[in-house]
Amino acid sequence: MDGLMMHRPLLQSGLLDYAADSFPAAEVVSRRVEGDIHRQGYARTRARAVQLSFALEEMGIGAGDRVATLAWNGYRHLELYYGVPNIGAICHTINPRLSAEQLIFIAHHAGDKVLFLDLTFLPAVEKLKDHLPKMHYVLMTDRDHMPDNSLDALCYEDLLAGRPTDRDWPEFPETTASGLCYTSGTTGDPKGTLYSHRSNVLHALSIAASLSPDLGPQPRILPVVPLFHVNAWGLPFAGPLIGASLIMPGPNLDGASLWQLCEDEGVESAWGVPTIWQGLFAEIRKRGAKPAALRHIVVGGSAMPRSLTEGFEKLGIDVNHAWGMTETSPLGSHGSLPVDKRDLPFDRRMALKATQGRRVFGVDLKIVDEDGRRLPHDGDAMGELFVRGNTVASGYFDNETASRKVIDEDGWFGTGDIASISADGYLTLRDRAKDLIKSGGEWISSIDVENLAIAHPKIAQCAVIAMPHPKWGERPLLVVKPEDDADRPTLDEIRDLLAPHLASWQFPDDLVFVEDMPLTATGKISKLTLRERFGDHVPP
Ligand code: ADP
Repeated sequence: MDGLMMHRPLLQSGLLDYAADSFPAAEVVSRRVEGDIHRQGYARTRARAVQLSFALEEMGIGAGDRVATLAWNGYRHLELYYGVPNIGAICHTINPRLSAEQLIFIAHHAGDKVLFLDLTFLPAVEKLKDHLPKMHYVLMTDRDHMPDNSLDALCYEDLLAGRPTDRDWPEFPETTASGLCYTSGTTGDPKGTLYSHRSNVLHALSIAASLSPDLGPQPRILPVVPLFHVNAWGLPFAGPLIGASLIMPGPNLDGASLWQLCEDEGVESAWGVPTIWQGLFAEIRKRGAKPAALRHIVVGGSAMPRSLTEGFEKLGIDVNHAWGMTETSPLGSHGSLPVDKRDLPFDRRMALKATQGRRVFGVDLKIVDEDGRRLPHDGDAMGELFVRGNTVASGYFDNETASRKVIDEDGWFGTGDIASISADGYLTLRDRAKDLIKSGGEWISSIDVENLAIAHPKIAQCAVIAMPHPKWGERPLLVVKPEDDADRPTLDEIRDLLAPHLASWQFPDDLVFVEDMPLTATGKISKLTLRERFGDHVPP
């Protein structure tokens, strides 16, 4: 027998409507590409998203059409996050750090009709335009900043001006597609994850439920994670839901700029990848103080070194490690500690915070061996992590072959990550399957070695990759970007640092130095590039 409750579709429009009604004091603060700081509330954001939706309809955009963005974090990008899907179209966020070839591939594969772009990206897009003959363009700026361009681009503010600021959003099934985001494609062509209104609303609820209780109501949150990468980890949807103020950093993501923005805007919680926090931590050390209000960090995308987590925690900043991927919306697990663990001694708390935390509600986790058999959740067994839930992709957009490869026969999504799960539910990512090092039949986790080595004061960044070995098959090689090139760490110093934690066969066999670490389009160290460069390295 069915229950007798109303069934209302879970639509993204409901999130912004709610914030506009309920949180008049919350702001969207943006450091604009034009250089200044801009402020507006959720009511104005809604009014402008309404104007944008009318403009899109006049341009012929309707249900199922893909509208692309190439933009930093800012209020206009947020308006696109609502103006586009609220009329049943699909907001396709493109990562500007992709290569020209990948950008063209993605725009074609997605079938984008219009591209909204920040001024920063005009020169790059002008070079691509011959490959995208049917595309229409809108520059996300006002008339005063509108540059000459060869795209025949419309001006964003002109497009909105004079249109009605209110409407009843259309209603449609909650399973309607709302957003599209391609993985950066470190292997093979990029693949598109197609989010739905339902999955994004449920994901916003799961973020709200996993936030640290210490944060208090209506926090001021800095999404350093870009809106062009996995929905900025859901903040454009969770922010309005909880009445958070969103502080949008624009293009400047170095430690000094972020420190100042946090200080000026009273940021309480900041979200981003570990390389960002390395930059901010260096700035905090330089200035001898943290930004006054900052007390919470969410970190994900790659493993946060324990030493860095401890550094922030000692300053009174609660670091929550989260795991996820484009295909999981992205939140899969979260490191906010439950009440019985909050008063543990520092070392035990940090050991838990070094894990990727516990699964969020609605996401099931399993680890399996090479034959697909389930492994126990005992903290030791290591296998490929599979996930299942309402916010997990069931396949890729218009790509049957790739979809078949990632979903197992019971309908779980294979993440390609190697993990262990403890009896009390803490997930520890050991490696990506392709980054594990197989030495003499035993696996060495590159993440384990990196996380220990990074604590060396002479190391700014490091990565462990496999190099071929005649006897052992593969052996670990440590690639280091030193803090100071004139004062490099030695292999012996690093081995001494690892000795209390690892067996000697897990130590790197050699050490090479780089001036800069190659990064992927999502800001992670590109092991693919390092393997191309050092994969044939032979120790002296
Ligand atoms: P890509 O980097 O391929 O574009 P994603 O941004 O979706 O794709 O990254 C997902 C991957 O990032 C995960 O499969 C995992 O390997 C890694 N990852 C995400 N969060 C964490 C974390 N907290 N610790 C370690 N690795 C992580």
